[in-house]
Amino acid sequence: MRLRYAAVVKAIHGALVHTGAGFEPDLCVLVEGDRIAGIVPPREVPPEAEVDDWGHAAIVPGTVNSHGHAFQNLLKGFSDDLPFESWRDDVLYPFSDRLDGDAIYAGALFAFAEALLAGATTTVDFFYLHDSSNANAERVIEAAKDIGIRLVLARALYDPDAPTKAPARYREPARDAAQRCRDLAEDYLDDPLVHVQPAPHSLHAASPETIRIALELAESLDTPCHLHLAEAAYERAQIEERYGATPVRLLHREGLLNDRLVAIHSVWVDDEELDLLAASGAGIVHCPGANAFLGDGMARVPEMLARGIRVALGPDGGCANNRQSVFDEMRQATLVAKAQAKDGSALDAMTAFRLGTEAGADLLGLPAGRLAAGAFADLVGLDSHDLSLQPPGQLERHIVHSMQPTAIANVMVGGRVVVRDHHLTTIRNGEIRKRVAEATAGWSRPGI
Ligand SMILES: [Zn+2]
Repeated sequence: MRLRYAAVVKAIHGALVHTGAGFEPDLCVLVEGDRIAGIVPPREVPPEAEVDDWGHAAIVPGTVNSHGHAFQNLLKGFSDDLPFESWRDDVLYPFSDRLDGDAIYAGALFAFAEALLAGATTTVDFFYLHDSSNANAERVIEAAKDIGIRLVLARALYDPDAPTKAPARYREPARDAAQRCRDLAEDYLDDPLVHVQPAPHSLHAASPETIRIALELAESLDTPCHLHLAEAAYERAQIEERYGATPVRLLHREGLLNDRLVAIHSVWVDDEELDLLAASGAGIVHCPGANAFLGDGMARVPEMLARGIRVALGPDGGCANNRQSVFDEMRQATLVAKAQAKDGSALDAMTAFRLGTEAGADLLGLPAGRLAAGAFADLVGLDSHDLSLQPPGQLERHIVHSMQPTAIANVMVGGRVVVRDHHLTTIRNGEIRKRVAEATAGWSRPGI
């Protein structure tokens, strides 16, 4: 029996479609507006639908980047292979002070282009170059809308008196930052592509009081609240010295651990702190590529999952990983988990795929990351004939362990095809390259 749809505009046909239970052959994803209306065999496609045949594609949900800093894509190469303090104090802080609105726009286009071409349909930009306004955040949003990616603008709160060498442009009184975050969230309330969420920077840059203000805002906006947490050993020691408690224990003591909290990294946490995180319902974004690149150490994901902690994946900033690919993070997550545990079964491909898709969307509070009626029509068409996806029959494992970018052919965000046959449909590569060259003209690695 054919169902009736109010306004089905598209039926995307794939040789294989990931339905949650695995891949099923010869199906169509029906797209109504920006949502998936259903998944049906070709014979059940309504006659009025416009069929877009993706041939031998294996259609999977778009991946979800749960943590990143788009402007950092401009800093790639300038900070590679440095110890963390030098990466931060000699490159991140001074270089990020050079970026005007056009450069921020260019960096965002660059990062979002890379993400889309790598199959990420949702990306978080944890953004802190504010200059005491929302004007720069608006340029990031403009870039996301121009290129067609789904954006979570995690608007940072960074204290004026934070004891770091960070530029003044990061810093605002917490109440001002919270009000600006609220204003921005309200401005984009009706925009299905833009989601604004509060993000106190970290315990080294935001006081417990600032984090409390951000959590209250998240409660009133009904969103998650992002926080870098226990990323590096130095930070754990610094927080312990300043507050007499380790990062997670401090949050617990202050009543700041709850299920709105999205804790980024959480590398330097002991067993008891993992128990506290689990009991609170807080989620964690695992960034294996960035943690390895910066020499931070590595989060213990299998132990988090065993405790029932919600875990998602993030590439983090462009100069802290240098690849904006969630598929790449899935692979790294399984590899490091196996290496840590000295056990090849420590984290399997299907679990890693779930962390990079539906678990990420759930953590961000978005109906995405899965191919199901009602979810955003965010799809990726993988070329099932690509050699990196052979031999046939093991596609779910290949996607995580062996897939190369050559397999990522088509990408749809909110019902709009933004990558077709490996090319962006919205902006030319040459335009992005030109803007990136302009933004970084005259830069060189600092002499260290
Ligand atoms: Zn970060």
